[in-house]
Amino acid sequence: MTGYSHDDDDVAVIIGSGPGGATLALALVRAGRKVVLLEAGPWIDPDDFVNDERIAYQQLTWTDPRLATGDWSLARDFPASPAWMGKGVGGTSLFWTGLTPRFKRHEVRAASTYGRVPGTSLRDWPVDLDDLDERYEEAERAMGTSHRQGRPPMPANNNYKVLANGAKAIGYEHYATGPYATNVEPYDGRPGTLQDGFCQQGDKSRAKWNPSVSEIPKALATGLLDLRTEARAVQITIGRDGRADGVVYADRTGLHRQRAALVSVAGNAIETPRLLLLSATTGHPDGLANSSGLVGRNYMRHTTGVVYAEFPDEVHMYRGEPMAGIVNDESRHDPSRGFAGGYYLEMIAQGLPSFSTFMEPGGWGPEFTSKIEAYTRTAAIWICGEDMPQESNRVTLSGAVLDDLGLPVPEVHYDDHPNDLAMRRHGYEQAEKLFRAVGAVRTTRAPAMPSGHNMGTARMSDDPAAGVVDGYGRSHDIPNLFVSDGSLFTTSAAANPTLTIMALVLRQADHILTTGVADRVPAATREGAHR
Ligand SMILES: Cc1cc2nc3c(=O)[nH]c(=O)nc-3n(C[C@H](O)[C@H](O)[C@H](O)COP(=O)(O)OP(=O)(O)OC[C@H]3O[C@@H](n4cnc5c(N)ncnc54)[C@H](O)[C@@H]3O)c2cc1C
Repeated sequence: MTGYSHDDDDVAVIIGSGPGGATLALALVRAGRKVVLLEAGPWIDPDDFVNDERIAYQQLTWTDPRLATGDWSLARDFPASPAWMGKGVGGTSLFWTGLTPRFKRHEVRAASTYGRVPGTSLRDWPVDLDDLDERYEEAERAMGTSHRQGRPPMPANNNYKVLANGAKAIGYEHYATGPYATNVEPYDGRPGTLQDGFCQQGDKSRAKWNPSVSEIPKALATGLLDLRTEARAVQITIGRDGRADGVVYADRTGLHRQRAALVSVAGNAIETPRLLLLSATTGHPDGLANSSGLVGRNYMRHTTGVVYAEFPDEVHMYRGEPMAGIVNDESRHDPSRGFAGGYYLEMIAQGLPSFSTFMEPGGWGPEFTSKIEAYTRTAAIWICGEDMPQESNRVTLSGAVLDDLGLPVPEVHYDDHPNDLAMRRHGYEQAEKLFRAVGAVRTTRAPAMPSGHNMGTARMSDDPAAGVVDGYGRSHDIPNLFVSDGSLFTTSAAANPTLTIMALVLRQADHILTTGVADRVPAATREGAHR
């Protein structure tokens, strides 16, 4: 395995090996650049995944405490785990579901399209959808997404048939089994899916895309990637020239400092602002890249909720892909519904442990147990909608709770905006209507689950006073510091975020390579001291 010296200041250091970090790493090594990839979690061989939700959760999840405050249901239901994030090579996509819709034009122009929505910090993206078209295609090819570039659609499972029949019955026209980032047939050296229903515990078969079976092995094969696992970045250091010049990280043997020509943070929109805030120095007392004061602010997590529906006959939602279908009809911007922006209805399947945890958090008594007993006759729809950016929704460093390294844990504050509440109500009603149209005998509205879609905490903007990074994810303050994950999003849009994270990072990689920002810094300006 390639190993660069800690003093090698010609390497790009990328923090986090999820879809964002891995995509950047592969693009840079393919262009001949040296990359050190720091990943807090371990390398997990697909053969070691465990098809049991409880064990898999412990094996794959970032379980260090986080705190939740605000009026969102997560502060009540899951106060120590507001976000659900992976920790391992491949990141959260080790157990993601794999739906990959593209963003819509109105969503990257939310401020212009929606007009003034009081209490929000809506802004247009500094990136146009036309700038992303090719990148979307590239990302879809990388993932082998179904329904795209001639690849076949995912076959319908029983859960999808409930969705499709219900959607048709209530007049929806746009619904399908994808686009979905699992191989329908063999692709890119990986097999087609067995549709065995076990891939949210890590996919033993490797049919489901995630970087640990695609970008990472490809990047390692170039001989230019130095992948360091169980290596957690704790500080980005800044030289006297004002450029990022290294990353301090902790592994089993202690603390180390890797020098760097370029640093990219791709730790997910909770850990990324946390690391920028933890990296405060006398020159950057409020944290790195934070002259706007916006690092950690504008946290978004999508307007979500689940409707479970019980049927007289068996559904067996857990057989086949876990997110077996999507309805697009409500994703339009149509203020006549009483809110700005739109949402998707996405079929969701859960194993029994998740089902009983999330359907009615804290549920108890005969009514609750009768719902659990109806598990095999239950189908479920997840609402996934655009939530409004608000500066007061933010990730900060806890003043009270420290992690095992003695560092403040992230505190995630979130209040629902009235627009979010109106959208969620509409989503619940539509999902119930859909299920009733195909014979549901009982429905249950469930609140949000810990957030898998974390966004906005280092937002892009052309104006340095209104964002943390520019349209290429490059810090307005520190020219060789980049953000390469969902923290970039200026607004959340309604679509699941990963395809857009990858598209933005592919565009970012080209920018880095064409502008030469990752090129070796002239020795005369490389005298920065580690503070
Ligand atoms: C249950 C679930 C289902 C989902 N389904 C979908 C879906 O269908 N479609 C979709 O688009 N999205 C989905 N998502 C979201 C998707 O997983 C994320 O958008 C995606 O993984 C984000 O990629 P990322 O690279 O930005 O971050 P991540 O994948 O979270 O990776 C970040 C990595 O950085 C590492 N890291 C963090 N901090 C540090 C540090 N200080 N030092 C070193 N390493 C660090 C972490 O250990 C982690 O491995 C789902 C999420 C969940 C939880």
